[in-house]
Amino acid sequence: MNLQHHKQQLLTSKLELEARLANTHRHLHHKQEPVSPNFHEQLLETSNDAQVYQLEDLAQAELQQINRALARIESGQYPYCSRCGKGIGEQRLLAVPYTDHCISCA
Ligand SMILES: [Zn+2]
Repeated sequence: MNLQHHKQQLLTSKLELEARLANTHRHLHHKQEPVSPNFHEQLLETSNDAQVYQLEDLAQAELQQINRALARIESGQYPYCSRCGKGIGEQRLLAVPYTDHCISCA
């Protein structure tokens, strides 16, 4: 298994999520400050704050999972299911790089 590849993928998603969260946060809490034009267009479709809060929650939850996965890579636990201890499998990790459960425990 190419851990380096998974780690890179996780780090990329992490950066994206952090950028997204920074924008969401600015939208919710600092309305005067401009957000990036692209993000502003996305928000026009979800202009109500409740939905933006929901997006922020989702992004935060995903970020936590990614941070956990990165910690699992460091500790050598990454390829193994955190419930049954069996290998999660390369295909599943490629599809869901931040998962910590094998397909039967998911
Ligand atoms: Zn399992």
